[in-house]
Amino acid sequence: MNSWLLAAVLPWGVGAVVGRVGPRLARRVHPATATWCLTLVAFGVAAATAIGAAAAAVALVRPALWDASLPAELGLHTPGRVATVLLIGLPVLAALAAGIPVAWSAVNDLLAAKASWRRARPVDGVLIVDDPDPEAYAVPGRQGLVVLHTGLLAALAPVEQEVVLAHERSHLDRRHYAHVLLVRVATWLNPTLRSLAASIAEQVERWADEDAARAVGDRTVAARAIAKAALARSAVRSGRRPVARREPVLRATAGDATARATALMSPPLPAGRPLLVLVAALALALPVHSGWGAHAVESAYQKACEQFSQTVHGDAARR
Ligand SMILES: [Zn+2]
Repeated sequence: MNSWLLAAVLPWGVGAVVGRVGPRLARRVHPATATWCLTLVAFGVAAATAIGAAAAAVALVRPALWDASLPAELGLHTPGRVATVLLIGLPVLAALAAGIPVAWSAVNDLLAAKASWRRARPVDGVLIVDDPDPEAYAVPGRQGLVVLHTGLLAALAPVEQEVVLAHERSHLDRRHYAHVLLVRVATWLNPTLRSLAASIAEQVERWADEDAARAVGDRTVAARAIAKAALARSAVRSGRRPVARREPVLRATAGDATARATALMSPPLPAGRPLLVLVAALALALPVHSGWGAHAVESAYQKACEQFSQTVHGDAARR
């Protein structure tokens, strides 16, 4: 099989396998490890997809361009350089194109959230909004902001409020939004990774829960706070649109609260460092492999350029 063809096909095969087993494997290790594994594998598969697709596109177009002597007619005397520009430029363009809808949705969520606390002033990075909707969420930014609604605070005991605050601060300190957004961009580049978007949303919630349990020093209290927050949320049927439709504004009441509370009531999961090392190695190997395929295409271009140049010079010498 041509190296560029393998580079183009392999990321889709790996993506299909990872999309099936990734979420299940993620539930077997600590959510911090799971989050990093999912992020790395999504990045590796998506980068390899973009590079592999560029290599295939350039390889398929090359004979058409070359046989028609188009590069020479267009004055492109160094088509090898054109290939290099295309092989780097196409994946960058693909990543930008995939990032636009994700950024657009994140900005919309942020604006919707901001509209609800236009007049409130934060104190120490915490904004308490007078709103009966039992909600809490983290707003990423240079300093970050935790927003707590009075409706949620009223439903929780003081120590449970601490759990919610620690949970939201964990989202900001660990930059969970970056993991969530990166995986979403990756799913645009390679839709076989779609199940990883839901899985990473689940894992960052679990990670923040673990941090919150450690902050208050009691897993049972943390589990109770998560369950009470979710119950308060489900009890309110005000008919208003929720503040955050999706995850970039990370909510305390997001995800499957029963599964989250059950996880906190169970002993902590193993760190799973060997899995992280293995996944990191595989995730890096994939784009390197695609890069090798792209390099083969580039070399073929260079060779064709040299042959063309020799033919032209040979003809000129004979004349
Ligand atoms: Zn959360």
